[in-house]
Amino acid sequence: MRKKIVAGNWKMNTTLQEGIKLASEVESLSTQVPSDVTLIVCVPFTHLTEVKKVINRTLLGAENCASEVSGAYTGEVSAAMVASTGANYVIIGHSERRSYFNETDETLAKKVKLALANQLTPIFCIGELLSEREANIHFDVVKKQLQKGLFDLSAEDFGKIVIAYEPVWAIGTGRTATSEQAQEMHYFIRNTIAEKYGKEVAKEISILYGGSCNDKNAAELFANPDVDGGLIGGASLKAESFIAIARSF
Ligand code: PEP
Repeated sequence: MRKKIVAGNWKMNTTLQEGIKLASEVESLSTQVPSDVTLIVCVPFTHLTEVKKVINRTLLGAENCASEVSGAYTGEVSAAMVASTGANYVIIGHSERRSYFNETDETLAKKVKLALANQLTPIFCIGELLSEREANIHFDVVKKQLQKGLFDLSAEDFGKIVIAYEPVWAIGTGRTATSEQAQEMHYFIRNTIAEKYGKEVAKEISILYGGSCNDKNAAELFANPDVDGGLIGGASLKAESFIAIARSF
């Protein structure tokens, strides 16, 4: 049975003190979340070590990692460094990293391999721009992101990945994909994986939806057969709304 997952992406929000408070609140409310739901907070690098100290039921992730192993890359944080904080997850290929920091499919493929080599589970983000959906090429775009970012992996390694489908036009805009649009794309993603790695592998991969998911729309989105949870931005910055989302299955 594939995992149900709700992961928060705090982005560049909260000071360290605010982050510790938020994580503590999430942890204390996490008792309300069914035990078959994996609850993750992905936090800024500066917060990882301290947040780790106040969580237990909640798991820890970073929002990014470097595409190189170590060395003269000033300001970068390696996958090994992230893993050494006790984090288990790392978001890779968020659309904000792809667009504002020019991260290419090739760079992201390197990050995925380094994350896996350091026992981190990549939460790999894919999703089309509004112009691409309007041009009706959204399936091609998502397929290409999967192929270039992940399809170089062995079936064993691919089985360790979590995918987040995040239509860029829905991220932080308040415009959520409809339940039908989400299911249609998640089904397509699972099928594309099945064509490459076989049905058994595809069946076990958790595919999360991201993009203005909140405590009002989560239940309808998560009720779809191929939607295994959510990657949550804005609504993960309030413990109550984040936990309400995690209770929506
Ligand atoms: C995200 O950043 O991954 C995201 C889904 O953001 P939001 O929930 O704010 O749209």
